[in-house]
Amino acid sequence: MGESNNSKTIEFPVSLTVRDLAAKTSASPIQVIKILMSNGVMANINQQIDFDTAAIVASELGFEAVLEASKEDVVAEDTSEIPLWRRLIMDEDPKKLVKRPAVVTILGHVDHGKTTLLDAIRQTNVASGEAGGITQHIGAYQVVQKGRLITFLDTPGHAAFTAMRARGAQGADIVILVVAAEDGVMPQTKEAIAHAKAARVPIIVALNKIDRPDANPDFVKKQLSESGLVPDEWGGNTMVIPVSAKQKKGLEDLLEAILLVSDSLDIVANPEGKVTGVVIEAQIDKARGVVATLLVQNGTLQSGDTVLAGETYGKVRAMFDYTGKKVKSAGPASPVQVLGFGVVPPAGDLFQVVPSEKEARAIIQERQAEKSRHTVTASKATLEQLFEKFQAGEVRELPLILKADVQGSIEPIINSLNELSQGDIKINIIHAETGSISESDVMLAAASKAIVLGFNVSADTAARNLAEQQGVSIRLYEIIYRMIEDIEKALKGMLEPEVKEVNVGQAQVRAIFTINKVGTIAGCRVIQGEVRRNTRIRVMRNGEKVFDGEISSLKHEKDDVKEVRQGFECGISLKGYNDLSEGDILESYVIEKTS
Ligand code: GDP
Repeated sequence: MGESNNSKTIEFPVSLTVRDLAAKTSASPIQVIKILMSNGVMANINQQIDFDTAAIVASELGFEAVLEASKEDVVAEDTSEIPLWRRLIMDEDPKKLVKRPAVVTILGHVDHGKTTLLDAIRQTNVASGEAGGITQHIGAYQVVQKGRLITFLDTPGHAAFTAMRARGAQGADIVILVVAAEDGVMPQTKEAIAHAKAARVPIIVALNKIDRPDANPDFVKKQLSESGLVPDEWGGNTMVIPVSAKQKKGLEDLLEAILLVSDSLDIVANPEGKVTGVVIEAQIDKARGVVATLLVQNGTLQSGDTVLAGETYGKVRAMFDYTGKKVKSAGPASPVQVLGFGVVPPAGDLFQVVPSEKEARAIIQERQAEKSRHTVTASKATLEQLFEKFQAGEVRELPLILKADVQGSIEPIINSLNELSQGDIKINIIHAETGSISESDVMLAAASKAIVLGFNVSADTAARNLAEQQGVSIRLYEIIYRMIEDIEKALKGMLEPEVKEVNVGQAQVRAIFTINKVGTIAGCRVIQGEVRRNTRIRVMRNGEKVFDGEISSLKHEKDDVKEVRQGFECGISLKGYNDLSEGDILESYVIEKTS
């Protein structure tokens, strides 16, 4: 592509990604990024750079760049999160980088055959070469194909994958999307596509159960195309590999496809570099203490190393590979089970080797201090905060997840939202689906720093709890234009802050006194929390709200007071309301801005 007769001359379009620039100049993306950095340009691998900048890089690499004549329109690729492993090797000496095995994870709808496929691959190709493969479940295993290793994460399901993404770690280089040939694209298939796309991890489709008489591969390929995965045989760039996990057919082709994709990704690491990676899973074993499976992504983990993960650390007492064999070291893309942590490290956390336990403790202390400085809301992707980031130029897109009651509402909403994209700020609808807002939507949102919009749907309790915990913003609407208006306001920075009610306490009316000139005073007992003079009061009668307003006086015995705590009696009168009656519950609450 693009090279002219003179081998030193290269044709470039008006803009291209760092990745393409590297490919065209046969340089490594890291090399290109470094040259860009030395010229004061901070760019990630998927970032578009203009022709002039590309020409400077090319000249440093010994090429002369000329503008490509015909193709003027270059579709801007998303500026994206750079995959974790590339970030980890950023500081490594490019000369020391060598290819490492690809790490693969399997996603897909329930019952489409993820577990069967993982087992089939494990049994036929385990790296140990032993018939039947005496393997242990440690959360990952390796197979050999054409003399090359491939690492599989065998905790199927996108919950694990998303949990990893939500923590900023990204264990997998490639996603295998399992789709049953007789069932086709189902809700969890779409979710998996959304997860993989949001993480910018390439997808290979394993079209499973082709042995079934009711298999309909063409129909499924059509569905996949509609979901944005156009099969390569139809001119797209998604490999769709027919397999039967049950009959162990097509597995070789699938492994070949993985090798092809991993070659195109140029997955490298420095085995001698800084030791880093991801915690795949961890638990407590009664006999052995904390047992953690670590996936090394750079460097070589050695027995005796001090490993730090999140807010826990340990000295590696012993390491085992997935066959249960004791090993002394583990290089890039190797999963190993490690004994020696003091506390269970959370799955998905990054780990690193540090020089000493003392240093580990110091880093942990620093992390804890940092955490207490930033409350949960600090990471919250509220619309207001996103606007600030737009202004600061930190983000260029607004990621949204849309849930609606019926399919018929989705399309008009998407169309209206897309029309809002303005200038270089894009609306990016990561996932749109019918149904109420679930935990899995919130997970996806947390991982992608997205906001969840609900139209005529509610969020279940689990989803609300997780959203609270993860700092994910959920906005519910019943009128389309209100939703669109909000997003538009957010883009323009005019949004009213989100508010929420905070319960302060409750009092129950025990007796009513009517006093001339003063009006009604309710003799109350505070039954929960406290009642404060400067809060709002909602009057509930038989579970229904009958009034909402302010307190005009709050007395304890004869004194005016600011607050009365649970268990105490008080006299309350309300501004503009004299119809209190015995048994009423007065709820004291305040309205707080959530951001
Ligand atoms: P998961 O929920 O995606 O992990 O799916 P499982 O691996 O548990 O498989 C669900 C069901 O589909 C099981 O009954 C499997 O035996 C069956 N199954 C999986 N792969 C195949 C296949 O290639 N052909 C057929 N006919 N059945 C399969």
